[in-house]
Amino acid sequence: MPSRSFSIFCSQCNGFILRYRKEGSGSLIRIYVKQILEPEYFKQFKNPKLKLEIPLLECYQCKQKLGTPKIHKPGNRPAYLMIKGTFFKKES
Ligand SMILES: [Zn+2]
Repeated sequence: MPSRSFSIFCSQCNGFILRYRKEGSGSLIRIYVKQILEPEYFKQFKNPKLKLEIPLLECYQCKQKLGTPKIHKPGNRPAYLMIKGTFFKKES
């Protein structure tokens, strides 16, 4: 499957949030932590056992909440369930 990368920005203040490698088409509803390319900060959260170990996804500037941490089954993959309307994306 082809993959593309997107930068995600806060819809409230336009601040950069993260860059993500997305597989397939469709909208961004769930993003997997291991496919976050930037910032480096997320690399330490690739293998959490509990969703409490995944940091909240919020804007670094205005603190708007953008996603809810989840452990996605099957595979127990750490992910964020994105909150509609809190972000916009650009292919990058
Ligand atoms: Zn913001």
